[in-house]
Amino acid sequence: MFEKEMERMVDEQLISRGISDLRVLAAFRRVPRHEFVPRDLVDSAYGDFPLPIGEGQTISQPYMVALMTALLEVKPTDVVIEVGSGSGYLAAILSLLAKKVYAVERIGILSKRSGETLQRLGFPNVEVIHADGTLGQIKAAPFDRIIVSAQAEDVPGGLLDQLTIDGIMVIPIGEQGYQELTKITKLAYGLKREEAGGCTFVPLVRGKVASADL
Ligand code: SAH
Repeated sequence: MFEKEMERMVDEQLISRGISDLRVLAAFRRVPRHEFVPRDLVDSAYGDFPLPIGEGQTISQPYMVALMTALLEVKPTDVVIEVGSGSGYLAAILSLLAKKVYAVERIGILSKRSGETLQRLGFPNVEVIHADGTLGQIKAAPFDRIIVSAQAEDVPGGLLDQLTIDGIMVIPIGEQGYQELTKITKLAYGLKREEAGGCTFVPLVRGKVASADL
C-alpha cells in the first residue's frame, strides 16, 4: 500500500545522505512506518520530517532514526535497550537487527499503544516497558547497545553502568532545542566519545512515572 513511499524514503532520505549499512536499509524496507503514526497522519508517514504521536511527543524524522541506528552498529546477538520508545518505530527497526530489544517509555498511553502495534505487526523480540528509562532495566542488564531517543544534558550514569564493555550508547546530549548526537563506546579503560552532528529531541524526563500516566 505504501511500498512506493517507503522505497522513495529509503532512496531519497537515507541512501542519498550517506546511510550505507545494508542491514539498516533492509530494516527500513520492512517496517511499515505508517502503522506507527496517528491515523490522520498516515499520508505523511514517509515524509522527511518528524511527526506528532500525541502527548506532546514525536516520532523522529526517518533519517535521524537511520543515523542513530547506523551509529549503534547492532549485531544479531545484541541485547538492546531504547529509552524513550514513543511510537515503537525505532524499536521495531532495532528488533530486526538485534536478538532482543527492551523499549522503555514513561508515558503510559504511548507504551500501551506501541506495545499493541508491535504485537499486532509481529515483532516478538521487543518488550515494551512502562518506566523511567534513565534508570535502565536492572533485571535485563547488561546491554550490548543503549539508545536514548530523548534529549539529555549529560549521560545518565545509571544507564552507563548497564552497558557492557565494548558496548555502544547513542544519545543526543545538550540543551533543550539543540543537541549533539553522541556515540559513546565503553572501553575497558574508559569512554570514547564521538559527535555525529546536531539534532533536536524532546526532553528526557527523569523521575517517578506519574500514576496519571498509568
Ligand atoms: N524513537 C521514538 C521517539 C519517541 S520521542 C519513536 O520512534 O517514536 C521520545 C520519547 O521519550 C517520548 O515518547 C517521551 O515520553 C519519552 N521519554 C522521555 N523521558 C523518558 C524517560 N525518562 N524514560 C522513558 N521514556 C522517556
